[in-house]
Amino acid sequence: MATRDPSVAFGQLADTAATVASTRSKNAKRDHLAAFLRRLEPQDLAAATIFFAGRPLADPAAKLGLGWVQQGAALVAAAGTDEGALREAYLRHSDVGDAAAELLARREPEPPALTIADVAAGLAEVAGAGSAEKRVAAMNALFRRATADEARFLARIVSRETRIGLREGLLEEAVAAAFDADLDAVRRAHMLTGAIDETARLARENRLAEAGLHVGRPIRFMLASPLADAAEVMRRVDGEAWIEDKYDGIRAQLHLDAAGQIRLFSRDLNDVTRSFPEVAAAAGALADAAPLVVDGELVPWRAGSVLDFAALQTRLGRVRPSAELLQEVPVVLVAFDLLHHAGRDLIETPLRERRAALEALGLPERTGERLLLSHVASARSAEEVDRHFDGARARRNEGLMVKDPASVYQPGRRGLGWLKLKKALATLDCVVVGVEWGHGKRRDVLSDYTFAVRETDATDASLLTIGKAYTGLTDTEIAEMTERFRAITLRDFGRYRTVVPEVVVEIAFDRLMRSSRHRSGFAMRFPRIVRIRDDKTPAETDTLASVEALFAEQASGRILLATGAGGETERIAASGATGDGRRTEAG
Ligand code: AMP
Repeated sequence: MATRDPSVAFGQLADTAATVASTRSKNAKRDHLAAFLRRLEPQDLAAATIFFAGRPLADPAAKLGLGWVQQGAALVAAAGTDEGALREAYLRHSDVGDAAAELLARREPEPPALTIADVAAGLAEVAGAGSAEKRVAAMNALFRRATADEARFLARIVSRETRIGLREGLLEEAVAAAFDADLDAVRRAHMLTGAIDETARLARENRLAEAGLHVGRPIRFMLASPLADAAEVMRRVDGEAWIEDKYDGIRAQLHLDAAGQIRLFSRDLNDVTRSFPEVAAAAGALADAAPLVVDGELVPWRAGSVLDFAALQTRLGRVRPSAELLQEVPVVLVAFDLLHHAGRDLIETPLRERRAALEALGLPERTGERLLLSHVASARSAEEVDRHFDGARARRNEGLMVKDPASVYQPGRRGLGWLKLKKALATLDCVVVGVEWGHGKRRDVLSDYTFAVRETDATDASLLTIGKAYTGLTDTEIAEMTERFRAITLRDFGRYRTVVPEVVVEIAFDRLMRSSRHRSGFAMRFPRIVRIRDDKTPAETDTLASVEALFAEQASGRILLATGAGGETERIAASGATGDGRRTEAG
């Protein structure tokens, strides 16, 4: 057997993370990190870059399967304490990592000391365990051997707390510096592979030019920036706008490899193939065009028309939908981009050419209308944009996307290549920080949510409350959420309880007001929960800056807002208030 160089102590990795976090200068952070990465052998290098990126596992579609409750159980067992102590520690620090460190500082770690390879293997064991009990046991085994400082880092990776994740740009810079590679080449390789570990390996081996997309492994999705109105559309484009309908479903990436294997990934890079068997089966008809990667939106669809988003909601979270449900809510993939075709990466190819290649696939005819093409049009004036907007709404779509035909595909970026004009522009993604028992028939469920935005984009930003609303969820969903909130309760005040901030909600409202009622300094008029965004992490919620920007747009009178009851589009002038007599925010 070939002898492997021993793996580096995990403590050194945790120390490096701590030093980087406490160092102010960006260059010093980069150099410190680079010096550490340079010393690592390939296996440790792969694991370390994944951990520094704030992720427990290399495969972005893999899940650890450890929620707050299970991690807590593993931790308190290792610390020889109880759940109450964990809650108190969390409340003191507002950080799982610091709470874990505090609890574990009171005892001696079990030998032998953890190496980077031990932690990588231990986390893989957690992910591969067959039951929650076994996952807790595997996690407990890691915590038992961890020092307080190691546990701090470990707990943060496991809970995917943002404050461990180094800014991606910094990690790329450190990889470039560690292996004397060109920074642009590192960035490009990372964009194409979607994998920082592979990028680091290619940099180390001086093979960055070989980077490419892997069919079967998801890459991050290109995102869109919001637009205020049709006039802004015309200001942003050069004479003519390329317009597509904005479908209201869930984003998906379809991979079809050379061996005929089909996989569908959601926006958070989860494998959702089994949840949408009809789409996966239909994609088989494209085998002769494989390998292939299509970007699109899954929407509920019947008789040539989209169904309401609420219909899709019944399909979400069903790992294996029943035959009846498949009949009741058929889903199609509306394709709008082609990222890889017949062995060629198209990410760096302009949209105009990607679209031509997508159209050449002959989707609806070949896939029995299970894969459709997005509706594309062009507009030369704001009036034409408005007409298209109304057309999209008449087709029961959410609004419009405006894309630059010359733009390349930018994974994970919210640039100006893609812009969105929505029915309810004024929604904010917030994180639930507290919940309250309802009234009347809802007195036995936690149906009122208090939510917050992030103070800044920084990884350790505070959460600032901005509003409170009743859910617009079904009774079943409210009951499920009640259980979830019970499990993540931090402190129970009777009517009200604070919860671990992990549930993201999209909130619509009629307008924003300056107010001292909430810590953000803003309040919402008629806030309502549009949906639970299980596809988003708390790190993706809106910041105070986006609230300020929305407030300024609103004052300019250019913003599109959803009105309270019907959710129809309406332009609200700076002075114009709407919705007299409607329910104002509770509390
Ligand atoms: P939002 O979720 O509001 O940030 O809007 C961006 C999302 O719109 C994308 O992530 C897609 O899921 C969705 N979308 C719907 N139709 C399109 C389209 N034609 N092109 C791109 N994205 C679309």
